[in-house]
Amino acid sequence: MQDKNTQSLDRRQLISSLLLGGLYMPMQAYAKTESSSNISSADFKHQNPLLWAVAWSATAAEYGALCYQAFNLATLRVEQALRRNNIGSKPLAVITDVDNTIVHAASYWGYLINNGMDFFDDAAWDRWIPKNLITPVPGAREFLDYCRDNNVEVFYVTNRDQGENTEEYALKQLRYLQLPFADNEHLTVYRNTSNKTPAKKAISESHELILMLGDNLNDYKRDYYVDGIDARYALMERDRYDFGDKFILLPNATDGHWVRAIFGDSEPAPTDSNRAILKAAAARDAWDGR
Ligand SMILES: [Mg+2]
Repeated sequence: MQDKNTQSLDRRQLISSLLLGGLYMPMQAYAKTESSSNISSADFKHQNPLLWAVAWSATAAEYGALCYQAFNLATLRVEQALRRNNIGSKPLAVITDVDNTIVHAASYWGYLINNGMDFFDDAAWDRWIPKNLITPVPGAREFLDYCRDNNVEVFYVTNRDQGENTEEYALKQLRYLQLPFADNEHLTVYRNTSNKTPAKKAISESHELILMLGDNLNDYKRDYYVDGIDARYALMERDRYDFGDKFILLPNATDGHWVRAIFGDSEPAPTDSNRAILKAAAARDAWDGR
């Protein structure tokens, strides 16, 4: 007899394979998937699947507490590194992602909700970025200031593309939030890729890298840029002892490569086919009601 965890895993794999079958079906087959799960546009008319996730990150004290927990742990790891650091070794550094790791984007998500949008909207994001309608993620500024005060360099590595002004906008946001090391030397912006590996490699050669921070496991390792929910989940299990040690994870329930694992695209289009895929993903471990 299988234990509960094994049963759960088998079921997850089974439902995932069904789901992946749906992901890669031709358009003709999508219609069948939708009708077989009784999904139509009308089903989505009065419900926005983003609501709970956005409400949680905009209001929940638990969201703030998770952020503080992450930065408290990050501070502890830096303290430990400072204690064991040998004189004459390379300077200490941390690498942090920007969006949803140190920059809180609540006003952007609120805009989507108010305008009836239920998927990430790239055009709205590009309009929002230069407006600096941002706040720091709870605990971020204190942690980054602690690094500065202890001669630990902070490197910001982000994946954004707002055209030729991308880097300028990103730098302005860091300065707007009065974060330390807000200069070109400490900011890397990848406009055409989400692969942050080259920056990590370069910084690791000149500095002793203490830890990395992000809201996306892909901020830690490119390994997580894989197709499929189960493949990504298995990588996370492989790295389980790194979290809170080498990599500090911030909560983000609205976007990231976990979305890509479901849709095959980090920014899926707001179509009923994609809403059906989202519903199937949410219900893949569903209780049958009995
Ligand atoms: Mg991010």
